[in-house]
Amino acid sequence: MTAGAAPSTDRDALAILNRVFGYASFRGPQRQIVAHVAAGGDALVLMPTGGGKSLCYQIPALLRDGIGVVISPLIALMQDQVDALRELGVRAAFLNSSLGAREAAAVERAVAAGELDLLYVAPERLLTPRCLELLESAKLALFAIDEAHCVSQWGHDFRPEYLQLAVLHERWPQVPRIALTATADALTRREIVEKLALQSAREFVSSFDRPNIRYRIVEKIDPKRQLLDFVAGAHAGEAGIVYCASRAKVEDTAHWLSAHGIAALPYHAGLDNATRSTHQARFLREDGLVMVATIAFGMGIDKPDVRFVAHLDMPKSVEGYYQETGRAGRDGEPAEAWMAYGLADVVQQRRLIEQSEADDAYKRVASAKLDAMLGLAETIDCRRVRLLAYFGEASSACGNCDNCLEPPQPWDATEPARKLLSCIYRIRQASGFGFGAQHVIAVLRGQASERVRQHRHDALSTFGIGADLSETEWRAVLRQLIAQGLVSVDHARHQVLVLTDASRALLRGERTLQMRRPKAEPGRRAGRGARRTRGESANESAVSQAGTGGDTVVETLFERLKQWRRAAASERGVPPYVIFHDTTLRGIAERRPATLAELAGVSGVGEKKLDAYGAQLIDLIGSTAP
Ligand code: ADP
Ligand code: ZN
Repeated sequence: MTAGAAPSTDRDALAILNRVFGYASFRGPQRQIVAHVAAGGDALVLMPTGGGKSLCYQIPALLRDGIGVVISPLIALMQDQVDALRELGVRAAFLNSSLGAREAAAVERAVAAGELDLLYVAPERLLTPRCLELLESAKLALFAIDEAHCVSQWGHDFRPEYLQLAVLHERWPQVPRIALTATADALTRREIVEKLALQSAREFVSSFDRPNIRYRIVEKIDPKRQLLDFVAGAHAGEAGIVYCASRAKVEDTAHWLSAHGIAALPYHAGLDNATRSTHQARFLREDGLVMVATIAFGMGIDKPDVRFVAHLDMPKSVEGYYQETGRAGRDGEPAEAWMAYGLADVVQQRRLIEQSEADDAYKRVASAKLDAMLGLAETIDCRRVRLLAYFGEASSACGNCDNCLEPPQPWDATEPARKLLSCIYRIRQASGFGFGAQHVIAVLRGQASERVRQHRHDALSTFGIGADLSETEWRAVLRQLIAQGLVSVDHARHQVLVLTDASRALLRGERTLQMRRPKAEPGRRAGRGARRTRGESANESAVSQAGTGGDTVVETLFERLKQWRRAAASERGVPPYVIFHDTTLRGIAERRPATLAELAGVSGVGEKKLDAYGAQLIDLIGSTAP
């Protein structure tokens, strides 16, 4: 498979892309990256999920003499990655703790004998003296450091072993290194360069836009019900991920969905290893499963057909949000990122920061990150513009987010905000101590509850001055005030509301509060529409299909191809997408190739797969009436 010692050229690279991977042309910066690394240069590749990072090291590894060593923290996924390469006829293997001694020894022999094109290794394995020695004895084509953001101590994917990977450069200064990540922010990028000693690497930064993902953030009212409406409505029968902040909530939500007829599985660090890996394997292998998970799930999950990612709790940073939502729609087909967000999210996230044991510098960074996330959740402008701006990318209104599709009504909430602030003030003045959100809102709305009467808050001048707004509206105003630091919550004292220095400016009329007008029942209609607009995205693979034109002939063949794929996959013990991606099956269904040569022209059908499955597919197409 390797091109021997022949000089790598663009032509050879393109030939491998066509023949092995079955793709017609490189995408975005792939061609330049492949050429640079194949020629022995170091590279730092920042590309969004689904952008096509793997080819950036797989093709140079095939072009260069020796083995391409891929360092990845994703032990559970190595088997699938290696299976997918073998399906393409690439000589690949992996070394990690899931292998028995005999299997590992066989892989080591293959390495020493130079019989591999690609070797996937877990970082902790790579750093063992035994493995380093093994690699000394072999000819190396390159090192690919996947998920390179794992060196970042700020991120939740931090892996201490990644810090030691600078050793590769010291031991093998001649072997090119390519570090890859889908995490885009400048801080992480600098950390990668520094910690991996990549100062002389060329940086390839792609646009981080994921045009096929539709962003939606709805106001949290009855989150489980809203989630169910979202999943059962626009995404029935589709694969998706639901993120929750705690294990208990993961369990609870998975039960709730299952009880309502949605095939859902839980995943979190509290489950034993066996259960976790069974659930992960089922998610990858079966069609249309919903994984309800903590953020312990997802890094490197390269299942291409995840149609939605839902958040029941707000991530603590835009990076986290981007990374988690980015697991949707890797195949370029329309997908949806949906989040229910409310007052409790703001309070909870602020509390986590305040109560953390970390030093002030950390708290400042965490707090700035949270502010950016809150800004994204609260914005009344295009979400994508905000998201990309966070990563330093300028763009214009996208037409594929909730704010673009159904522009929210702006609302000058200065007056209500002032009422709320003075109510907090009066209550404290009268009682000598503060009260929580529920109580303050009851006073504002003039609800003489027992507690209100007991504290004589029904006699305050602010009692009932906010009867014109609903509780939901008041909670939205309060959320906005807390998000902007105009009110803080004293977590040490029963979550009581406290004025801040910034509150005074608003009370004195020196600033205003602009926000989106809360909807009465915003969750109910959320999430519709992704279906209807399939195929309308700018993405190359968003081909026309059922739903737009109602082409049932294509759809029937597509379904039969999927059935065939399921059988083929289970026979070989691999996930269906290792055989062919949905986009490839759809391409076949549309073109109805009658010969092997025509079939080879479909994107994603390489030489090896044509050999293995071509005849079966031609038969199947022939036997499905057009
Ligand atoms: P990443 O690792 O950046 O998330 P992958 O390497 O998994 O992305 O690629 C995402 C998808 O795009 C895969 O299905 C891959 O086969 C496909 N792909 C990558 N490069 C090309 C290309 N040049 N032409 C067509 N499809 C491609
Ligand atoms: Zn938009």
